[in-house]
This record gives sequence, structure tokens and C-alpha cells, in this order.
Amino acid sequence: MANQKVALITGAGQGIGEGIALQLAKDGFAVSLAGRHLDKVQKVADNINADGGKAIAIEADVQYKKQVIDAVAKTVSELGQLDVFVNNAGIAHVAQVCNTEEEDLDRLLDINVKGTFFGIQAAAAQFKKQGTPGKIINASSIAGHEGFELLGAYSATKFAIRGITQAAAKELAQDKITVNAYCPGIVLTPMWDQIDAEMGELHNVAPGESIKAYLDGIALGRGETPADVANLVSFLASEKADYITGQAIMVDGGLVYR
Ligand code: NAD
Repeated sequence: MANQKVALITGAGQGIGEGIALQLAKDGFAVSLAGRHLDKVQKVADNINADGGKAIAIEADVQYKKQVIDAVAKTVSELGQLDVFVNNAGIAHVAQVCNTEEEDLDRLLDINVKGTFFGIQAAAAQFKKQGTPGKIINASSIAGHEGFELLGAYSATKFAIRGITQAAAKELAQDKITVNAYCPGIVLTPMWDQIDAEMGELHNVAPGESIKAYLDGIALGRGETPADVANLVSFLASEKADYITGQAIMVDGGLVYR
């Protein structure tokens, strides 16, 4: 019997990363959940194991290259191999471009951009060592296709992820490694709670008003769930996506059209 395939997901302690972990476990992957807070990823892993899946939790902060490399090494030593790496961890920041502080810009670039680079580097090195094909799946956004007011720094990082995805896809194709990105819209996770609160403060509007303005623009008429995103990632992680690489695919219920 073939070995159970293994997927590592970063930022898997809540929100979209948790949704992806649950879905990939359902798809039959053994999952390695990496996050900054061990207690949170451990809780998700415990739920997956209690449901009959196979999951481990690893404390790792993706802005530090060594921690990403160590997370891959620990995954392989505990689960045997690596087949899919989901660069999901990311942070948002709400500020006008002209008011964005240098330290906030650094934080976003360190986690969203450098973290994604380190994930690609660590995953590709492991796939090459194994001599197996592999799939790398990165978190971009609708904000990686269109710049939104008050999300300039965030948008910069999500546009960057599309560029990294295309370059890595071209470079790694010869090793049968595909690199793609998912671009969610307005997903109802703690990240949007934070964005809504910070936009509300800047615009002096009540909690819930800022996100409502975005939700009202969604053609399919509802906010997005982590499961909506996880369904796309499930496809990208499967053999059905073997001939897709370098793409940044929208999953936004009809909000941004590219
Ligand atoms: P979230 O804030 O709810 O969860 C993100 C998780 O990543 C948290 O558990 C956090 O602890 C973890 N994390 C943050 N920095 C980390 C780091 N340096 N190292 C390891 N883990 C770290 O966010 P979410 O809404 O689930 O978003 C997940 C990804 O999807 C992000 O990359 C985000 O930019 C992207 N995205 C989200 C939305 C949305 O509407 N929520 C839309 C488009 C794209």
C-alpha cells in the first residue's frame, strides 16, 4: 500500500488554515499543523485525531527561516514524508498608504512575503530530497489582484505572493513541483473581525458596518467560510490539479473579476 500523503499547513490554529487542515485530513492526508501558538494548533490537531484522522501540531513562526525548515524536518520525522505545503499564515494591517508605519510594513513583509519564500524554499528542498513531485499552495487574496482602501501594505504583500508563485512555478516545474495560490474574498475569520474593528475606528462607524459594505458587493450574496476556501485548496492539493501551476485562483463568491 502506498504511504499516506502528508500536508503541512501554516497558520492552522484558526480561520482558513484550520478549515484547510480539517478538509485535507478528510481527503486522507496526514496533516502537520504549524502555528505561532502551540496550544491553538494542538487543539485543532486533537480534534482531527479524535475524528479518526492523523494530525500533529508544531510551534513555528514563519518569519524565521530556521523555524520553517525545522517544521518540515519535524513533519518528515514524525509523518514520514512531505507531499503538500500550504503557506497559509498571514497577517493584515489597516492604514492608509501615507500613514503606514515602517515597523508595520516590516512586520507584514516579514510574515506574509518572507514567510512564503521560506515555506517554498523548505518544501522544495524536501521534495527534491525525496525525489517526489510536490505541491506548494500559497495564500494570496482578492487584495492580491486589486488594491483596497486602507489595505495598501497588505495588498502589496498579496500581490507579491502572486509574483513569487509564478516565478517558483516556472523554476520548479522541472522537478514536478507545482506552485499555485488561492485568492479568497471576505472570509468570516478573526482576521476580518480585526479589519472591521480597525476600519470602523478610522471611519468612525459601528462594528460590523465596514465588513457589511464589502459583503454587500458579493454576487453570491453571503460571506465566505473557511470551508469555501478549503474546497479550492483540496482541489489544488489533489491529483486533479496536476496540470495547473503558477495560478492565483479567485474564490470570492463573485467580488473581484480578473
Ligand atoms: P486569521 O488571522 O484568522 O488566522 C491566521 C493564523 O495564522 C492565526 O492562527 C495566526 O496565529 C497564524 N499566524 C500569523 N502569523 C504567523 C506567523 N508568523 N507564523 C505562524 N503562524 C502565524 O487569518 P485568516 O483569515 O484565517 O487568513 C489566513 C490566510 O488567508 C492569510 O494569509 C490571509 O492573508 C489570507 N486571506 C484571508 C482572507 C479573509 O478574508 N480572512 C481573505 C484573503 C486572504
